[in-house]
Amino acid sequence: MTYLRDALTERVGEFIQLRRDIHSHPELAFEEHRTSDLVTAKLQSWGYQVHRGLGGTGVVGTLKRGGSERKLGIRADMDALPIQEATGAEWASTRQGLMHACGHDGHTAMLLAAAKAIAQAPEFDGTLNLIFQPAEEGGGGAVRMMDDGLFEHHPCDAVFAMHNMPGTPVGHFVFRDGAAMASSDYVTIRIHGTGGHGAMPHRAADPLVAASSIVMALQTIVSRNVDPLHTAVVTVGALHAGQANNVIPALATLELSVRALDPQVRQLLEQRIKALVTAQAESFGVRAEVAWRQGYCVLVNHTAQTEFARQVALDLVGPERVTLNGPPLTGSEDFAFMLEKVPGSYLLIGNGDGDSAGACMVHNPAYDFNDENIATGASYWVALVQAYLAV
Ligand SMILES: [Zn+2]
Ligand SMILES: [Zn+2]
Repeated sequence: MTYLRDALTERVGEFIQLRRDIHSHPELAFEEHRTSDLVTAKLQSWGYQVHRGLGGTGVVGTLKRGGSERKLGIRADMDALPIQEATGAEWASTRQGLMHACGHDGHTAMLLAAAKAIAQAPEFDGTLNLIFQPAEEGGGGAVRMMDDGLFEHHPCDAVFAMHNMPGTPVGHFVFRDGAAMASSDYVTIRIHGTGGHGAMPHRAADPLVAASSIVMALQTIVSRNVDPLHTAVVTVGALHAGQANNVIPALATLELSVRALDPQVRQLLEQRIKALVTAQAESFGVRAEVAWRQGYCVLVNHTAQTEFARQVALDLVGPERVTLNGPPLTGSEDFAFMLEKVPGSYLLIGNGDGDSAGACMVHNPAYDFNDENIATGASYWVALVQAYLAV
C-alpha cells in the first residue's frame, strides 16, 4: 500500500494537470459533455469497460479481475456551479459565470488517478464500478443514473463517495456513522382569500393576516413538536402579498426551506406543516394550498461500511489524520439516494485549514480544490479497492 502511495505521488503531476484542465472547462448539471468525454477516453485507455448515457452525461467504468462475485462501487461527481470565478488562478475557468466551486473537478481527478493505478496493479478479485455522475448540485444526477438502471446494469454490494472539506487539514479524513447530511425540501404555500377595499375588511377574507399568523405558528413546529434532541430547520424565506395600502389582496404566498437529519423527523415536519397551515387557514376563513417539493433525502451512512472505510484510512494515514466520528452537516448531497439502495459510506477529505487557501468554503468564488489531495485521495481509493476486493 505504501508502495502504491509512493508510486502515485511520483506520477500525480499528470492528474494535477488533468484536474486543472477540468477546472478551466466547468460544465453545469447534465451538460458535462466535455468532462464525460475526457473521463471515458481515460478509462478506455486503461482497459475499463465504459457504459455511457446513464443519467445523460453519466459514465461508469468497470474492471473485473479474478472469479469473485464481490462488487464494489465508487462514485465521483463532475458538475460545476453558476458562479463567476475570482481565484485568479492560472487554471481559472475559461467560461463566463461558471466555475468548479465545490471541488468536483478534484473528485473526478482523484478517482481517475486511482482508476489508472488500479488498472496497472492487478491485486484485486471481483468487479469494480467507478461511477462518474452528473448534476450533484441540486439536479439529482444520482437519481437520474439510478432511474436509468445504474445498479441493475452495475450491481454493487457497497458504494462509497468522498467530498473535500475546507476548514479541515489537508489530507485528513472524516467519517460519520448514521445520518451525516440533511434532507432538504422546498415548500410553497398559497393562501387564497377574498380581496377587497382596505376600508371594509369585513367584506373580505384577508390572506395576508392569515399568512402572518401562519409564519408565527410555523415557528412552534421545531420548538414544540420535534424532539429537542433532534435537529430540524423550518425557514420561511419569502412572504409575498399585496401591493397597495388600501387594497386587501386575494392571495399570499410563502416559500419555505425545510431540513432534517432524520427521515422520521422529516416526515413529522411535513405532516405538521400541512396540518397546521390547513387548520390556521380555515380558522381565518381562507384556503391554503401546500405544494411540497422533495429535495435530497437524509444521507445515512451504514455502520459496517463506514467502519470498513474508516479502517482503510487508519491503515493508510494513521489515527492522527482520521476523525472517527465527525459532526453531521446541514448541507445535502444526492449520494444519499444511492445509500438508500446500496449500503455504503460518504466520507470527507480535508481541503486545508487555518489561513491556507484550501480553507475557503465551497460555493465561494475564491474557492479552489487543493491539488495536494489528489495523491492522498487517490491512494485512499486504491487502498479501499484492495481491501474490499482483497485477493
Ligand atoms: Zn456543492
Ligand atoms: Zn460538492
